[in-house]
Amino acid sequence: TEFKPLDLHKLISDTIDIISHSIDKRISIDLRLNASLHIVKGDYALLQNALLNLGLNARDAMPKGGTIFIQTETIPTATGKGLHVIFSDTGCGIKKEDLNKIFTPFFTTKAVGKGTGLGLASAYGTIENMGGNIKVTSTVGEGTRFDIDLPVYDSTV
Ligand code: ADP
Ligand code: MG
Repeated sequence: TEFKPLDLHKLISDTIDIISHSIDKRISIDLRLNASLHIVKGDYALLQNALLNLGLNARDAMPKGGTIFIQTETIPTATGKGLHVIFSDTGCGIKKEDLNKIFTPFFTTKAVGKGTGLGLASAYGTIENMGGNIKVTSTVGEGTRFDIDLPVYDSTV
């Protein structure tokens, strides 16, 4: 795969357009694109797949509706500037004993045929390959939050 500079805000907007066609009207999307620097280096399709899966997982976690919250911020890092993305939902949450398994390939709690258990493993790899990281926090019955850090693309490097 070829890494190119890409606008993460455009990618998020494009991805929401796709997701919004396949989610319930009772799910609202609260989008706060606050980052002043939002160019990252990566593969557009791979990163879009990662965000798509986060969105579809959020949908699956909220069968009765709820809110998907996406926020970006520019943050300082040891080597320059970073992009911090919060992706959260108000869904069923993840049991404590499952939290450290969700990024493992083939871990799924979904019915046979409904989940491959590859979505988050793939998203994890995509983000790590971009020099970033993804972390999860969750409370059963309240929701799940993913915190993603990505290095901002620096054209002088
Ligand atoms: P799949 O969606 O095919 O099951 P994933 O790798 O995308 O595989 O997710 C693995 C598991 O992590 C899911 O089966 C589910 O148990 C849990 N999970 C992921 N995202 C969420 C979420 N937003 N809310 C609740 N559980 C989640
Ligand atoms: Mg999934």
